[in-house]
Amino acid sequence: MENIIKIITADITQLDVECIVNAANNSLLGGGGVDGAIHRAAGPELLVECRTLNGCKTGEAKITKGYNLKANYVIHTVGPVYTGAENDVKMLRLCYWNSLELAMKNSIHSIAFPAISTGAYGYPLKEATEIALSTVVDWIETNLDYKMKIIFVCFSDETTKVYNETWILFQNIKKT
Ligand code: ADP
Repeated sequence: MENIIKIITADITQLDVECIVNAANNSLLGGGGVDGAIHRAAGPELLVECRTLNGCKTGEAKITKGYNLKANYVIHTVGPVYTGAENDVKMLRLCYWNSLELAMKNSIHSIAFPAISTGAYGYPLKEATEIALSTVVDWIETNLDYKMKIIFVCFSDETTKVYNETWILFQNIKKT
């Protein structure tokens, strides 16, 4: 298996990868948090292309070019606003899954994810991290013949710590 998962602390807009994922909102017309940062770094042409996409449903993903970013592509996905309902899990899982499917469809082999829904959308970080990691591991195991480098980009050391602890937990579960 040539797939690699990495966890780093960084600003996702600065990464030199083929594709970065945006935690967007349903309008795809920009917002705060990571969405605002990506639009600022990519430049106004990103918004022009986003206007042609007619929004995006929660859990779905759409692709654009990266414009002034180092990344060639941005995959925009819309995470759930946390409510505590079972559907939140399903929707967050779909964000990661559909982003990876769309990346593969576009022959992308490196992709960076922010911690979708854990900012303004209020998803508890630990729960969201477990969903992010388990979904990506499931996807890799379903697509063993496709080489995909996956980077989890944490915006704070505290987030990175939660990702690393959750990752260790996974490794232990796999060993037993
Ligand atoms: P959502 O609305 O999906 O919750 P936010 O943008 O509010 O999206 O937050 C999602 C995550 O992205 C949060 O963990 C936040 O700290 C992180 N984040 C914000 N800016 C950046 C950035 N430039 N690079 C990487 N992660 C970021």
